[in-house]
Amino acid sequence: MNFKGYDQANTLTVRLRAFFFKRYKMSRCPRCKCKNPENYNFCSQCGQKNEETKVASSCTYHLVVMGSGGVGKSAITIRFVNRQFEAKYDPTIEDRYQKVIEREGVPCVLEILDTAGQETFSAMRELYMKNGEGFVLVFSITSKRSLDDLDPIRSGIVRHKATDEVPIVLVGNKCDMTKKREVDQKDAKEVAKSFKCPFIESSAKADVNINEIFNSLIDQIWQKHGPPISSSDRRKGSRSENCAIL
Ligand code: GDP
Ligand code: MG
Repeated sequence: MNFKGYDQANTLTVRLRAFFFKRYKMSRCPRCKCKNPENYNFCSQCGQKNEETKVASSCTYHLVVMGSGGVGKSAITIRFVNRQFEAKYDPTIEDRYQKVIEREGVPCVLEILDTAGQETFSAMRELYMKNGEGFVLVFSITSKRSLDDLDPIRSGIVRHKATDEVPIVLVGNKCDMTKKREVDQKDAKEVAKSFKCPFIESSAKADVNINEIFNSLIDQIWQKHGPPISSSDRRKGSRSENCAIL
């Protein structure tokens, strides 16, 4: 009997088994069991950190959600990150969230800062404006005043960035509350035009246009800085300033 050949075959079987077992484990999220592509740092469904991942490429973007209190900043963020609607109003809390999404085949880590909305011209707000790469400016379609409140916020961002080409999305939230509408789409579009940004009407409650808000920001960031290179290009040795190769 050829023991050497037997050993080799046996080792090969063990290796193959280990390989497929590892692949199975890596391709499933340990928390929610969804199919989690192996090059992700985090599960795109539940945010579980993928400890198995050794080689990962991702682009991290810092996004800030701003606007008056009660317009639905937290509801939009929570709907986007956790796919849930928060019915109770908690006005004081400022929170940070992280979500991995895939845009045109590129995994993007979104670090989202959901602001409290009461930090008028404070040092805190200045810090958000300085560090943010994309801004979601939210008003409620049921409050004309909440739209007016966004004007000084947008001016502050432009001043801090020293350019008016900042990735911004103007969001008219609570579009499910049609009977209480105070802001016409036409007026909001005019404001968006003056802000040089797109306008999206959303409802965190009815889950309308929530992904579109964040996709639009990523598209604008890519338009500004250039899209990140794909992993195949990276293997060929290209580099991109926008991409962190982990
Ligand atoms: P924030 O202060 O801007 O973070 O506002 P919240 O997200 O806490 O929302 C304030 C209130 O509005 C809460 O009671 C939410 O349930 C409610 N709300 C948020 N988004 C919507 C929406 O799209 N439609 C409706 N009908 N209510 C919403
Ligand atoms: Mg809030």
